[in-house]
Amino acid sequence: MLQSRLFSKTLRDAPKDEETANAKLLVRAGYVDKLMAGAYSYMPLGVRVLKKIEQVVREEMDAMGGQEVLMPMLHPKANWQATGGWDSIDVLFKIKSRTEKEYALGQSEEEVVTPLVMSRIQTYKDLPVAVYQIHWKFRDELRAKSGLLRGREFFMKDMYSFHESQEDFDRFYGVAKQAYLKVFERLGLVAKVTEASGGSFSEKISYEFMVLTDAGEDDILYCDACEFCVNAEIAKQKEKDACPKCGPPNGEARPKGGKGSLTKARASEVGNVFDLGQKYGKDFDLAFMDREGKRQYPVMGCYGIGISRLMGVLAEKFHDESGLLWPHAVAPFDVHLLRLGSTSAKAAADEQGTSSSPKASTVAKALADETEGHSTGSEVYQDLQAAGLTVLYDERAVSAGQKFADADLIGIPWRAILSPKTGDKIEVKRRGSDDVKLVSVSEFVKMLVS
Ligand code: ATP
Ligand code: MG
Repeated sequence: MLQSRLFSKTLRDAPKDEETANAKLLVRAGYVDKLMAGAYSYMPLGVRVLKKIEQVVREEMDAMGGQEVLMPMLHPKANWQATGGWDSIDVLFKIKSRTEKEYALGQSEEEVVTPLVMSRIQTYKDLPVAVYQIHWKFRDELRAKSGLLRGREFFMKDMYSFHESQEDFDRFYGVAKQAYLKVFERLGLVAKVTEASGGSFSEKISYEFMVLTDAGEDDILYCDACEFCVNAEIAKQKEKDACPKCGPPNGEARPKGGKGSLTKARASEVGNVFDLGQKYGKDFDLAFMDREGKRQYPVMGCYGIGISRLMGVLAEKFHDESGLLWPHAVAPFDVHLLRLGSTSAKAAADEQGTSSSPKASTVAKALADETEGHSTGSEVYQDLQAAGLTVLYDERAVSAGQKFADADLIGIPWRAILSPKTGDKIEVKRRGSDDVKLVSVSEFVKMLVS
C-alpha cells in the first residue's frame, strides 16, 4: 500500500482524553479513531491487525472442530425473557422500535444460538456440535476508559458447544483450553489460566485466560514455580502465600531457593471458557433423544475471546517510547519501505507542479520515479510484493525525520530504506533494534521467509 494514499494520518500528540498506552498509540498512529467512550472506528491499518488476530483465532477454532456462523446482533426481547437475562443482565442494551417493539443488542448469544442449534438436533448422534462467530458485541459498561480493552461495542469470538453428557463436555473443555493457549502463543502472548467461579450462570468452574499488563482490570495471584493461578478477587490465598499446588505444606516459610510462592499482578482477561450446564436447553425446553431414548437437555459450554481487547493488550505489551512494535503474526504489513533522499525531493518538487489532482500526481510519481543506476522505489516495492511480502511504501514527499518517526510509531516489524546512498541495495533493520544491514532485495527476502 502506498502511504501517500492512507487517509489515516499519524498525529504528533496523543489525544488528551485517552488514559491508556494502547488508546494513545493506536489513535496517534492512525489505527483507530474514537467515536465516543467505548466505541472506536478501525482505520485501514487497524482493520489489518484486527483481521490478523481474527484469522489466528479462526484457524484454531476450525482446527478443534468449530463451525463458523454469523448470528444477528439484534435480538428479540422474548429470547432474553426466556432465560431471565432481560431483567438480570445489567450490561444488556435494550432498544425500542418506532412500533414500540423491544429488542436487545447481543452482549453474548446463548439466547440465539440455543434455539438455532437445538431445533436441528434430534438425537445424541447429532452431538457434539460447536459453533462460533466472530462479531460485534454490545455492553452497557459503566467504565470504558481503557481504550480497546473495554468497549461498549467490541469485537469478540464466541463459541458455544452442545454435548450429550457432562463427560463429553469435560473432554471438549480440555480441548478448548489447549486451543486457547495455542491462539495466545501464536499471537506472541503468554496467557496464565485462572480457575474461577462461573459467576451468574452457574457455580461451576470456568477458566479465565489472563495476560499480565498494568492496563488490565483484574488482579491475579500466580505461582512463580508452577501453573497455579487464581483471580485475586475470589481467592482464598493472598500475595506471598505458599502455592496451594506446589508450595511448602501448612503455610511453612518458603525454603530458600525452594518453590511455590504467590505473586500478585495486574492482568487483562483475553478469553474465558464457561460450563453452562443444562440451563439454556431447559430455558427454551429444547432437548434431544439420549441413548436410552429419553428426552435430555444438552450440556453446553461457551468460550469467548476478546479480539479487539487482544489488539489493545498487544499494543500495551509491545511498544516503546517511540511507538508500537507489533509481533509479526499481527503486524499490518511485513515491511515498511521508506524512500529517502533525492527521489523524495524530486517527488516533492514535482508535486508542486501543474497537475490538477495532487493525489494522482503523488501516486504517479511513486510508480514512475527514478535515478539512473539505482533501484527504484517502485521496483523494490513490486519485488517485495512479488516475493509474497506485504509492504507499506512510504513514497511521500516529507522529510526523512518524519518518515522515521512515523515508521517507529506505526511499528511494522521490518524497515527497509532506499536512498541514493544505498544504490541497488536497501538498508534494513528490525523495529526496536539498532542493527542495520545493507542487503540486496533478494537477500532481504531470504532473511524474511527463512
Ligand atoms: P470482563 O470481566 O473483563 O468484563 P467478561 O467476564 O464480562 O469480561 P465475557 O462475557 O466472558 O467476559 O466475554 C468474553 C471475552 O470478551 C472476555 O474474556 C474479554 O476478552 C472480552 N470482553 C468482555 N467484555 C469486553 C469489553 N467490554 N470490551 C472488550 N472486550 C471485552
Ligand atoms: Mg464483563
